[in-house]
Amino acid sequence: MNYGYDLKNNVLYIDRNSIPAYNIEKNEIGVCSACAANLLSISYHSFDDLVIVAKCSSCNLISANIYNVDWIWLDEIVISHFLSENIQNENVGCGLQEDRRSDVCANFKLLKNIPMKQLQTIFSPAEINAMFSRAKGDECVRQYLYNARKKYDTFENVFGITINV
Ligand SMILES: [Zn+2]
Repeated sequence: MNYGYDLKNNVLYIDRNSIPAYNIEKNEIGVCSACAANLLSISYHSFDDLVIVAKCSSCNLISANIYNVDWIWLDEIVISHFLSENIQNENVGCGLQEDRRSDVCANFKLLKNIPMKQLQTIFSPAEINAMFSRAKGDECVRQYLYNARKKYDTFENVFGITINV
């Protein structure tokens, strides 16, 4: 299943279904799988199971946390930044200085066209987050980007795609 999220309208997308929030309370719901900081809920959704979309208070990773109807935790699925906030923000990063602009856009387009499943095969959620941030020209956690860069060769060997961010 593909997960996406519209941060502006609090709509969760699961494959072709759009699921509006029934609650937008902010609660601590656990810890981030990438950095162990607190996860804060953004919105609650009901779709067969119950889904809480949450954002890490430290690394800003956004995830869909899935529970059964008895609120037993089932799974956590990372929602990429691209799917979450860049639906309306397609040209983010393109306002940078002339010389970096084309680079930033090319890298960002390349990254967002790689299926998330492929990225997740090689990179950790935090590394994916750092790569997208970097490609958009945003701040990123250097350590995660550094770790990700060490795997670019592996990614190229497996999927034939050269990443250069
Ligand atoms: Zn985190």
